[in-house]
Amino acid sequence: STWWGNVEPAAKDPILGVTEAFLADPSPSKVNVGVNMNHIREYLPMGGSVKMVEETLKLAYGENSEFIKDKRIAAVQSLSGTGACRLFADFQKRFRPDSQIYIPVPTWANHHNIWRDAQVPQRTFHYYHPETRGLDFASLMDDIKNAPNGSFFLLHACAHNPTGVDPTEEQWREMSYQFKAKGHFAFFDMAYQGFASGDPERDAKSIRIFLEDGHLIGIAQSYAKNMGLYGQRVGCLSVLCEDEKQAVAVKSQLQQLARPMYSNPPLHGALLVSTILGDPELKNLWLKEVKVMADRIIGMRTALRENLEKLGSPLSWEHITNQIGMFCYSGLTPEQVDRLTSEFHIYLTRNGRISMAGVTTGNVGYLANAINEVSK
Ligand code: PMP
Repeated sequence: STWWGNVEPAAKDPILGVTEAFLADPSPSKVNVGVNMNHIREYLPMGGSVKMVEETLKLAYGENSEFIKDKRIAAVQSLSGTGACRLFADFQKRFRPDSQIYIPVPTWANHHNIWRDAQVPQRTFHYYHPETRGLDFASLMDDIKNAPNGSFFLLHACAHNPTGVDPTEEQWREMSYQFKAKGHFAFFDMAYQGFASGDPERDAKSIRIFLEDGHLIGIAQSYAKNMGLYGQRVGCLSVLCEDEKQAVAVKSQLQQLARPMYSNPPLHGALLVSTILGDPELKNLWLKEVKVMADRIIGMRTALRENLEKLGSPLSWEHITNQIGMFCYSGLTPEQVDRLTSEFHIYLTRNGRISMAGVTTGNVGYLANAINEVSK
């Protein structure tokens, strides 16, 4: 099946296209009097930093990906993960106007806003199982099977927000197989690469499984968490295409969507990312730091669970250490959360989601005691 066979190359932008043509011209006597060029404050092209995008694709698709070599990936720098999701939703609406998007229950709340504002109708699929505080795999597979052939699904590549519950490798394989049978499209939101296992390569496993099975997927990537670049708004949207020609057309249309929204993405964060990932030594340092962050969070999970067990809580807190990534879906009720806030000055969302990044050796004992008190 061809997902984007109807996508024709967009016309060049009459203003920004001048610089693009200038940059592509190899002549030594070339002169650009089209727009102002100032090397550290100039505009990036509509598609963003080519170098940053190149490095970012390696993280998702693999250092030696054949798809990168064959130029089959249409990719643009995005306004972090949110912007990547929104750009894709708008693209989906424009070129697959009758499609819907299947979204897991629960999900990051903004996913609903994004596809709603892009006017793509939403459906949901089962994901979290409240009783086991794990994955409702049987219902999830049923929903994949029962969706109309060729449906779009939003998947969290790793460290699912807000539940911290990820499919196992085997489960990803089964999902990929079923997606193939049904001709579904997988759009991966990967906002936490590296945060689940401490290793970005391992956290991309879900994506690699789908790639191995020959899916043409889309990916939203973000450097907010794994490089701590929250406010720089740096990320990437990529769409794997059938061939280079289709990728060129799709990329030109993604840029066409970006132009009336924000013209071009910010420069500084992209420079930080391409400087770090483009230098093997800096990249290794970054990989080490990602691991330190992930290990600290994993350590805090163990500490929180052990503290609760030491306090003699009769409830099971196993899910705290089974879940993965930045969040712990504690299972606390909205009323229990309200008591945490009013009696213990502990603040969290009413769905009981604990951001493990806020748990420290200094406050884990206090937190465990309060959770034990309100869950008695
Ligand atoms: N997707 C998910 C699942 C997220 O949790 C987040 C951040 N909370 C994002 C996307 C987007 O974050 P940002 O736009 O800062 O990259």
